[in-house]
Amino acid sequence: MGSEEFERVREAFDTNWIAPLGPHVDGFESDLQEYTGVAHAAALSSGTAAIHLALINLGVQRGDYVLCQSFTFSGSANPIAYLGATPVFVDSEPDSWNMCPAALERAILDLQAQGKRAKVVIPVHLYGMPACMTAITEVARRHDLYIVEDAAEALGSTLDGKPCGSFGDISILSFNGNKIITTSGGGAMLSKRADWVQHARFLSTQARDTAPHYQHSQIGYNYRMSNVCAAIGRGQMTVLNDRVEARRRNHAYYEQSLSDLPGLSFLPEPDGCFSNRWLTCVLIDPEHSGGITRETVRLALDAQNIESRPLWKPMHMQPIFADAPYYGNGTSERLFMNGLCLPSGSNLSENDLQRVVKQIKTAYSNHD
Ligand SMILES: *Cc1c(COP(=O)(O)O)cnc(C)c1O
Repeated sequence: MGSEEFERVREAFDTNWIAPLGPHVDGFESDLQEYTGVAHAAALSSGTAAIHLALINLGVQRGDYVLCQSFTFSGSANPIAYLGATPVFVDSEPDSWNMCPAALERAILDLQAQGKRAKVVIPVHLYGMPACMTAITEVARRHDLYIVEDAAEALGSTLDGKPCGSFGDISILSFNGNKIITTSGGGAMLSKRADWVQHARFLSTQARDTAPHYQHSQIGYNYRMSNVCAAIGRGQMTVLNDRVEARRRNHAYYEQSLSDLPGLSFLPEPDGCFSNRWLTCVLIDPEHSGGITRETVRLALDAQNIESRPLWKPMHMQPIFADAPYYGNGTSERLFMNGLCLPSGSNLSENDLQRVVKQIKTAYSNHD
């Protein structure tokens, strides 16, 4: 937290606006609209809730197919299952680690050959790195698919100067505790379509009809963000660019200090991309590292009480989605096998970073 957040939370208490509505909710939505340049935003209880409401808005129903990046967090895919639709998972490409446009097209054509049609595609900007949105959008438009852009990890990133969170027909953000900025828990749905965002607000507050009594003609959800959380969010927006700078500093430090270790490489930042570098991720290829694996490094760090974590386990490898169709050629599997997220908090000191680097180098030198 910065210094602004508590002031705004105090204001919420002083004015007794504690409910899932109030001036900070409206203000946070305006802040998000301004930052992303998207005309409309609804502040919600989580990023997962935002994807759920996005899919409902786009008419996804039982029996439908939804294309989804496999290399992601389960929050991207679970809402497909909530609706009784089938997720169709698509592999990543090796430059951005995000959805491969060629694999996407293959999936669409193969579904067509089986007489099936997907309605929606969910690309993700994983670890804050923008996906190939130009190519993905071109494929989606050609096949008449809506895009739900999962920018949960990418607030503060840009592609060709345009903010992540502004590329989808509907885009979603997360403010969960681990994200680049947080409201303790929260999310948002953004779109240039006022009617979709208005409908999300309606559904997120139990779908109350206009009447003096409580009346419901549709199933609703309790998904609205509270005024207290939105107060935190407004404060966090004032430090977002500082957080991006801090995360990019972490990444630059690790890259400078570790790049010459054999077999170790970093997630690149392709041309036109500006990543918030939410987490610093490395790949350790045992064929070029003298047999050192990401587990060698993870366990060595763990023994020093330093937490690191394998990259996201692809959705098509998850027990819960074992039966879902998958189109790929091994990229996400390889990333999961060889990848590690290094400590990446915005508040890491130079000392902390030095300590992590020293332990990784020690793990390398202890190995032979
Ligand atoms: C965090 C996250 C979500 C879900 O957001 P919550 O606010 O935790 O529900 C969705 N997709 C990705 C890629 C995420 O990292």
